[in-house]
Order: sequence, then C-alpha cells, then structure tokens
Amino acid sequence: MRVEHAQGTCGGVENCVAVAPDYFEVDEAGLIRVVSAVIADADVERVTQAVGECPTGALRLLKDS
Ligand code: SF4
Repeated sequence: MRVEHAQGTCGGVENCVAVAPDYFEVDEAGLIRVVSAVIADADVERVTQAVGECPTGALRLLKDS
C-alpha cells in the first residue's frame, strides 16, 4: 500500500506527523513531506489512522496493483 499527499489541500495541522512521524515530516519550508510513500505491512494500520485524522483530506491511501 502507498500514501499520497496533496500539498494544495494540506492545512499544515500536522496530525499526520504526530501519528506517523516516520512517514510524514515538516520540511525546511514548513511544508509537509512524505518520508516514505510505500507503507510497510506492519505500519498500514497506523498510517491509515494518520490519513483518517487529516482534517483536510490531503492524504490518500493507494492499493498496490
Ligand atoms: S494532517 Fe493533513 S492537513 Fe494536517 S499536515 Fe498532515 S496532510 Fe496536512
């Protein structure tokens, strides 16, 4: 599974960073950056929680095809 971030709709609330700091971080410009787009099986539940807690819908899960 993969995670995608849409900078245009990100509100910078940083819920994602709080829940999964190994997948999301704040860069030097203060913008959210995806550290790893590919989600390890063991982390799917936690990253799914981070996506669910994004208030602006800027994060999206993509299933591997
Ligand atoms: S939780 Fe959503 S709106 Fe907040 S920083 Fe992360 S991606 Fe952006």
